[in-house]
Amino acid sequence: MEVLFRSRRSTGSSVIWVVQEIMDDMHSRSLVMDEPGTLSVREFDVPEVGPNEVLIEVELCGVCGTDVHMNEGGMPLDFPVIPGHEFAGRIVETGEAVTTDFAGVAIEVGDAVTVCPGRACGECWYCNNVPARPTACLDRTVYGFTSIDREPTLRGGMSEYVLIEGNADFFRLPDDLDIDYGALVEPLAVASYALEQSFQSGLPFAREGYGPGQSVAVQGTGPIGLLTVATAHATGASEIIAIDMVEKRLELARKFGATRTVNIRDYDDDEALIEAVRAKGNDGIGPDVVVEAVGHPSAFEQGLRMPRNGGTLVEVGHFADAGTAEINPTWIVQNDISVESSYVYPPAQFRTSLSLLQGYRDDLPFLELFDYRVDLSEAESAFEAQATGDSYRATVHP
Ligand SMILES: [Zn+2]
Ligand SMILES: [Zn+2]
Repeated sequence: MEVLFRSRRSTGSSVIWVVQEIMDDMHSRSLVMDEPGTLSVREFDVPEVGPNEVLIEVELCGVCGTDVHMNEGGMPLDFPVIPGHEFAGRIVETGEAVTTDFAGVAIEVGDAVTVCPGRACGECWYCNNVPARPTACLDRTVYGFTSIDREPTLRGGMSEYVLIEGNADFFRLPDDLDIDYGALVEPLAVASYALEQSFQSGLPFAREGYGPGQSVAVQGTGPIGLLTVATAHATGASEIIAIDMVEKRLELARKFGATRTVNIRDYDDDEALIEAVRAKGNDGIGPDVVVEAVGHPSAFEQGLRMPRNGGTLVEVGHFADAGTAEINPTWIVQNDISVESSYVYPPAQFRTSLSLLQGYRDDLPFLELFDYRVDLSEAESAFEAQATGDSYRATVHP
């Protein structure tokens, strides 16, 4: 359609008219969350693609724990919303001014792409003064979380079509990477960025921060935890301790590179659990780095006491508010624990994800995460499967 439009546009108005009519007839079936707990499939007109925009036809979209949380009323958003921020699709049409993706890779109709959902305004104090932290933008919009009443409507991945706006950051998938991997780029960006928070900035010196050969514990082996295990494996951790209460998940964690596992159910109380984790890191001293990817306040309380003295706890699990934790600040001081936050990622983290997926797809079973696939009409069951833990990462295939 795009080829027709572009190649004949200058040759006669009748052709433009015919093609324009086809464009106007395009509709998108999209999942809409009118309010938490209310999901339905609705049909929308596909808008005309502006010079800086790109239209994609979605192939698949993951149902994230955050989507479940949103559906359960845990996020104060401006509804209705088309959910979905972990998606990949193929380019249907590109605006005249768009010739490359975010990384400068040439694109054309039919290419597989994934979209970095967060979009900074580019104009506020943070965008001007702290550009490396686009998540701090004061007028940030996010695919999958922004009201359909704010143009453009098609701004969520659980939809046949998504319109990529002018300054949204999208990435072309390498030709040799199956399009399904595209839906893992976002969660892997979350996970790899979280582990990167434990890197010591400036000149590295012996055993400060994370580095090759070090000991990493990961609390929680849902998708973010598993992908953190994968990142630790890929970056040369010598010990990777996976912690969860579901044996099946710990088994998968071993396939993703965990060298030892701790099943929470084997321990009577926090004390015993913390001791078990410390016993498995650095010959009983405790791991150098702990990444909290559970999202429950008790996990944060436990995680704070797991690293060796001078070690690091990275908090990534509590993206959504799950309540408060009890902290004894003296523990942090006396044991010299660094506590790092990890809030989403800058768009360039998608390049890191793509490199990790390309480099490790033969070693690590990334696509085994997708164990519950449905089409748009059954999307509600995908939310359920994700909420109950029946699937690692349910996917909707519009
Ligand atoms: Zn997510
Ligand atoms: Zn801004």
